[in-house]
Amino acid sequence: MTSNSRPLLNRRLAEFGTTIFAEMSALALRTGAINLGQGFPDTDGPEAVREAAVRALRDGRGNQYPPGPGIPELRTAVAAHQERRYGLSYDPDTEVLVTAGATEAIAATLLALLEPGDEVIAFEPYYDSYAACIAMAGGTRVPVTLRPHEGSFRLDLDELRSAVTDRTRLLLINTPHNPTGTVLTREELTAIAELAVERDLLVVTDEVYEHLVFDDAEHLPLATFPGMRERTVTIGSAGKTFSFTGWKVGWVTSTPGLVTAVRSAKQFLTYVSSGPFQYAVAEALALPDGYFAAFREDMLAKRDLLAAGLTEAGFEVFTPAGTYFITTDIRPLGAALSKEGDGFAFCRALPERAGVVAIPNAVFYDHREAGAPFVRFAFCKRTEVLEEAVQRLKSLVG
Ligand SMILES: *Cc1c(COP(=O)(O)O)cnc(C)c1O
Repeated sequence: MTSNSRPLLNRRLAEFGTTIFAEMSALALRTGAINLGQGFPDTDGPEAVREAAVRALRDGRGNQYPPGPGIPELRTAVAAHQERRYGLSYDPDTEVLVTAGATEAIAATLLALLEPGDEVIAFEPYYDSYAACIAMAGGTRVPVTLRPHEGSFRLDLDELRSAVTDRTRLLLINTPHNPTGTVLTREELTAIAELAVERDLLVVTDEVYEHLVFDDAEHLPLATFPGMRERTVTIGSAGKTFSFTGWKVGWVTSTPGLVTAVRSAKQFLTYVSSGPFQYAVAEALALPDGYFAAFREDMLAKRDLLAAGLTEAGFEVFTPAGTYFITTDIRPLGAALSKEGDGFAFCRALPERAGVVAIPNAVFYDHREAGAPFVRFAFCKRTEVLEEAVQRLKSLVG
């Protein structure tokens, strides 16, 4: 008991209950359903990278507190990666910061850059930690909704422009975008960059799916656009790219001033993390292009397998240009099966009905009604698991 009647959880966090992932994963366990809810691979990344972590552990590298900004080998590897892939040059000593995954990078960046009352514009649906971190930093989130248009979710640039006010401090961008799979085009990014320069906004870009881009889509870091390098905090992570989501190695690249600011917050969150894994990720980032190409090809085949199965089962599929998620519209399944287009009710019933778990996209929206009929499936699973899921989903068509 406490000495007063105040709720234990403070007002900033009260609206964020336990995540839907906990509920859905428990449901998967109870029903034996295939869990395509949470986005983590069911196989580990490259053996050589895992062995590099073992070597670091055995050799006593990283078993004690690594340096605050991250080990030099990893900062150098991150800088080399940005240079090689995008022609972006960063000084490993002053412009790269290693974090406990992208999650801490997002938290530290927002805690460092926001004053209470600052507005942050983020695309809705958004990755679930954005809203909570903006709230923890005392900021106000201003969602701009991505809407379905000709088979994908698109940004309305006019809506984005009119969301900017005198209180807007930063744009929080995510491309490739989780959960819709949208990859922002050169035209869209150009317009975002022009807006940021014109209104003098900071930009934070979450690019954790930079290596998962399919077909004709291309990942273009915002920092490569005119006037952007000096106002952009770019966030990357090893988790998704190398299929080691448990290692929690992420990074920030930006100007010395912004990196120093982010580090000021980061030092009091974790201080440092993932010592031996930092050495392994430094090696992973230097893998030949063939690794990244093979990873993308593998995920592309999985995307196509699951997309075809979902289409056959009666869903409208928004074929993702990036990430390892497929967003679907359940309404074509019919009012009864789709629970009148209520993704929550649909996902709660799906494990019993078809033995598969998915996530209702509405949890990623402030305007829940805008996300109601959309449901997300992850395809970062073994082929036989996806084949079995597709088989099961066929029962929906009867
Ligand atoms: C998974 C994910 C993250 C978190 O990355 P970690 O490195 O595991 O902390 C951040 N942003 C998006 C969009 C993600 O999907």
